[in-house]
Amino acid sequence: MRKVQKLPWFEQDPALLDDVRYALRESEYKWLHLHLDQGTARVQGTITVPEDRYSIEILFLNDYPLTLPQVRETGGRIPHTSDRHVNPKDGTACLCIPDEWFIQRPDESFLTFLRGPLYNYFLSQKAFESIEEWPLGERRHGNGGVLDFYQECLGTNNPHVIKQYLLCLSQVTVKGHWDCPCGSGNRIRNCHYERIADLRKKLSPHIASNALKYLSGVS
Ligand SMILES: [Zn+2]
Ligand SMILES: [Zn+2]
Repeated sequence: MRKVQKLPWFEQDPALLDDVRYALRESEYKWLHLHLDQGTARVQGTITVPEDRYSIEILFLNDYPLTLPQVRETGGRIPHTSDRHVNPKDGTACLCIPDEWFIQRPDESFLTFLRGPLYNYFLSQKAFESIEEWPLGERRHGNGGVLDFYQECLGTNNPHVIKQYLLCLSQVTVKGHWDCPCGSGNRIRNCHYERIADLRKKLSPHIASNALKYLSGVS
């Protein structure tokens, strides 16, 4: 049987690659360059922050843009520890809680991602090197930070309610006659319909089901 090869994301949707190219060409990020190699797209180079620069690599996974690209600092400067917001396992930078960025971002362009979480991360790392504090604040690293975010976003400390919301948001279709995930016993259409509709516009079922898996260790 012939194996079906899935096309790389940038061949499935060339407009997404145009958006990346535009961000690198028409912006202050001219020291970052796109490389395409055997179905993989990565951006490599340096990012400048006031009075400094970092060598970085940005790797797009094949489910881009459903997930954020992976970012790594490649100069060996930032220790691979969770208190510096680097995942010790694979050296990826913990730029932000992706779910939070998906909900708050003003648009989906790559340039907005560069100017938002990516720039702020390296600006913060630079500040941390001198003052050992995070000037923009920080979330707890790992699933604690994800849980804190959903607690704020949904206005509840109840992990069961958060899971019910994520279960609902991870469905491809949601029906108004279902029980509302808030636990009121009302139907969605008579309860948190607007909140759920708004979240579904910004969070894909893919992201919600990832968050659900990620938080499943939290009771
Ligand atoms: Zn972190
Ligand atoms: Zn409700």
